[in-house]
Amino acid sequence: MIADLSPADLDAFIARARADFDAFKARGLKLDMTRGKPSPEQLDFSEGMLALPGNRDHTTDAGEDARNYGGLQGILEVRKLFAGPLGVKPENVVVGGNASLAMMHDVIVWALLKGVPGSERPWGKESEIAFICPAPGYDRHFAILEEYGIRMIPVRLTGEGPDMDEVERLVRDPAVKGIWCVPKYSNPTAECYSDETIRRLAKMETGAPDFRLFWDNAYVLHHLTENRREILNIVEECAAAGNPDRAFVFASTSKMTLAGAGLAFFASSDANVKWQMARASKQTIGPDKLNQLRHVRFLKDEAGLVAHMDKHRISLAPKFKAVTDALQARLGDTGAATWIVPEGGYFVSVDLLPGAASRTVALAKEAGLALTPAGATWPYGKDPEDSNLRLAPSFPTLADVKTAAEGIAICMALACAEVEKA
Ligand code: PLP
Repeated sequence: MIADLSPADLDAFIARARADFDAFKARGLKLDMTRGKPSPEQLDFSEGMLALPGNRDHTTDAGEDARNYGGLQGILEVRKLFAGPLGVKPENVVVGGNASLAMMHDVIVWALLKGVPGSERPWGKESEIAFICPAPGYDRHFAILEEYGIRMIPVRLTGEGPDMDEVERLVRDPAVKGIWCVPKYSNPTAECYSDETIRRLAKMETGAPDFRLFWDNAYVLHHLTENRREILNIVEECAAAGNPDRAFVFASTSKMTLAGAGLAFFASSDANVKWQMARASKQTIGPDKLNQLRHVRFLKDEAGLVAHMDKHRISLAPKFKAVTDALQARLGDTGAATWIVPEGGYFVSVDLLPGAASRTVALAKEAGLALTPAGATWPYGKDPEDSNLRLAPSFPTLADVKTAAEGIAICMALACAEVEKA
């Protein structure tokens, strides 16, 4: 444990870490572990999709011409295919464009301008509104709120979802209109919300009658082990608790098929789906139904989808193992860092000694390693302890991930030892 070292032993630890750092830096590498993008190998798994639906194949099961306008909700065969993972009936799924982030953004803007079912007035007409932001979390969720001046209240994650005592206390304030949730293999902590967390979110008493869970199930099928974790169905739990309209569910195929040309989904109660489509109908005459057809032809059914996700798992799992092995080897017995070994998702989240995150990023930069900026995982980019770092090992090759992970662990060990000495 670094904290238990005598001053002389700590100096010796720093000297060794510095020598490792200098040796790594001398290799003159350039590696990037910043964003959770699928690798070219992963994109190739869906290459066959680009030839689909193919010439003259443009008729949906309902007999519609997918080349034409219309079909705002999305073709039924796509809604059927994803209804299971989304946890609703096909009637309660809306298929959007290629980015679920765009659907989340629009739902927030529409809530501000028009209100949601149950609103007394548009959210933008309230004197002040706020969102609970479990942290560390997804920077782009926070960026949407910042863009529209919605106050963000960080709440700590516990390993089983947000600290629910704190959430239940905060939602009594009518100004609190929503909470971001990435309930499965969360970005970045990889944690899954427990049954208790989900039940409490579904039934908690909120000051705002139009409070919403922004349930971003981005990693619903993104397992890294053969243990395919399941979580409770939020739409059913909310209905059972007498809050049928509480959850707005989002997901996409960005990290199933093609990140730049996938399908996004909105799923919710009857009233919320009706509300969403009424707004969306002013935005578009209909989505890209050929892409929807392409997805159905390629993935075929839920078994096909699961088999396809297995390819991603087999490609990604060794990269994640490389990262956690390197962390364990360099930091395992130092007491300077904690992390969850991810069972799914796209990130490894590491909590370092307070003050060591930004120092690690600076050291890594010096050594040719690009990391997500310290603080990015917190609202307003401000990590109160400067301790969390998000590592994204999906994009580089396995060999590069191994090298980068070793370098990152070296930088972390040095930064933590320097902080301990200061
Ligand atoms: N939601 C979460 C939690 C994510 O981590 C990401 C991408 O990293 C997205 C949404 C982006 O999804 P999409 O590509 O559907 O916009």
